[in-house]
Amino acid sequence: MSKSIAIIGAGMAGLACAMELARLGHRPMLFDKGRGPGGRMATRRVEIDGAETRFDHGAQYFTARDPRFLHAIEGWHSAGYVAPWPAAGEGAFVGTPGMNAPLRQMAQFFNVQWGMEIDAVLHDIHTWHLRTGTTIFRAQQLVCAIPAEQAAKLLAKEAPDFAAIAGQAKSQPCWALMVRFGAKLDLADCFRGEDIAWAARNSSKPGRGDGEDWVLHASPAWSAQHLELSPEEIVPLLLAAFFAETGAAAEEPVHAAAHRWRYAMVERAEGSPALWDPALELGVCGDWLVGPRVESAFLSGLELAQSMVGNA
Ligand code: FAD
Repeated sequence: MSKSIAIIGAGMAGLACAMELARLGHRPMLFDKGRGPGGRMATRRVEIDGAETRFDHGAQYFTARDPRFLHAIEGWHSAGYVAPWPAAGEGAFVGTPGMNAPLRQMAQFFNVQWGMEIDAVLHDIHTWHLRTGTTIFRAQQLVCAIPAEQAAKLLAKEAPDFAAIAGQAKSQPCWALMVRFGAKLDLADCFRGEDIAWAARNSSKPGRGDGEDWVLHASPAWSAQHLELSPEEIVPLLLAAFFAETGAAAEEPVHAAAHRWRYAMVERAEGSPALWDPALELGVCGDWLVGPRVESAFLSGLELAQSMVGNA
């Protein structure tokens, strides 16, 4: 009989790991503190003037260098969960109708407990105990598929070696702005600048609405400098930086909301693309073991699943 497996984190790494484990005959359960699929490939639904629109306020697009990720993209593409977005360059894909679409598709095969933050883990001889508030879940094997800083904290007591590796990875913050303008801006669909490291006409992505919707990402330096401001304070500052850097005529937004990614883009930790301790029956995966990209998260999750099954 296969062992029970719990995965903390249902972003791209956790779900890629779950899919591969399922392909190899296992049935993991997943826990994620978010309200639904996304992680850093999040899509925010917003109602503006009585109509719903979606902003991709985390990852903007993804590309594939590795044939294993390319193969996954091809599958999602033929099923309609992703589509090319040529504005970001050749080989760039986005989820449709939102960036989180491929995660939503993968999550449907599993028992994912959304809105469930695991605040502590404890290991005894053959069992992992996952605590969320006053509730405890148990599994024989544990996968930790969360950002490095959070993994370092969660694993400090039970797996200090893995926690130390996670502690080497340093993530940069990113302030994101989701904004709708009443009139079309005289700008190309994508812009790369300094304080505004990235800006994109979200509505130019396939399957989105036709409002003039933009997502702006502040640079790591700008974001770090303004890290503790409130979202309300960030909105006018980022808008002013955007108009100053792009040279577009300033427009009053119809809607504007800021979101802080405290751990947005990671400088990778040294070592393997995934960590597996067969004695502890503990696995760790995430973009931070490979690099700050969606593809990295996918490959880390995939490799972890294969190590688990190969060595278990
Ligand atoms: P995550 O997506 O962070 O998933 C981890 C999950 O764990 C989350 O869903 C979280 O809710 C959950 N979690 C954390 N702690 C707990 C806990 N204690 N209990 C339960 N659940 C928990 N990549 C690209 O390829 N192209 C881009 O253009 C791009 N742009 C980006 C822009 C921004 C602003 C950001 C933030 C990221 C960007 N990235 C981009 C990076 C990309 O989004 C990530 O590399 C990738 O999504 C990471 O996936 P992951 O599964 O490792 O982590």
